[in-house]
Amino acid sequence: MSKIAIMGAMREEIAPLLACVENINEIEYANNVYYEAIYRGKDIVIAYSKIGKVFSTLTATILIEKFGCQTLLFSGVAGGISGELKIGDLIIADGLCQHDLDITAFGHPYGYVPEGEVCIPTDVGLRMIAQEVAKAKGITLKEGVIATGDQFVSCSEKKAWIEQTFKADALEMEGASVATVCSALNVPFFILRAISDTADGNADMDFDKFLESSAKISAGFILDMVEMI
Ligand code: SAH
Repeated sequence: MSKIAIMGAMREEIAPLLACVENINEIEYANNVYYEAIYRGKDIVIAYSKIGKVFSTLTATILIEKFGCQTLLFSGVAGGISGELKIGDLIIADGLCQHDLDITAFGHPYGYVPEGEVCIPTDVGLRMIAQEVAKAKGITLKEGVIATGDQFVSCSEKKAWIEQTFKADALEMEGASVATVCSALNVPFFILRAISDTADGNADMDFDKFLESSAKISAGFILDMVEMI
């Protein structure tokens, strides 16, 4: 039977998932803990990577290569860029780019390295399932570009630069690295984020205030999707 990976970056992002699943089996591997579990009869493996592109690359790779997951869903929080996104709103990535990848000195665009791509698209089928779940819940689900980088953005100028350069609607620190792994290994993947802050001068305070509630919103939505996969 097909196995589904659900990953987050921080403990707070997977805690609401672990609270809802059954038959949890903890496996320690590579300085981390992986939770095999069952949700509504489906085999899933849950883990949080720790923050940033390097840790999330490691965890996504292990979920696929060691645990044999054939679909990967990411659940977490992000800083909102689009004015349409308020704290607590959900966004799904149609594509992900690395805003801090820069070899523009050689004439390349921001986010590009040779043999890579600036924006990695997510699986269309999973996005369609998400839109069905959203419809059933009576919520609007924004789709857009999510920009990833190894920095917590809490500055309006930086946020505006990322918006203009990548046409991004939200930003975070793991999506594009997970996308790179899944696309290289041909694993359908999906990135969902609930807004915890708006990446401006108040971002650190908003993040602390809304991390838990936004992480819960994202996790609840992901579990509804699992039923339909
Ligand atoms: N407060 C935490 C650090 C959080 S880093 C600590 O002290 O341990 C922010 C995390 O949430 C990352 O995993 C990132 O993916 C996401 N995120 C939310 N808002 C963000 C923002 N404004 N900029 C970058 N990442 C953000």
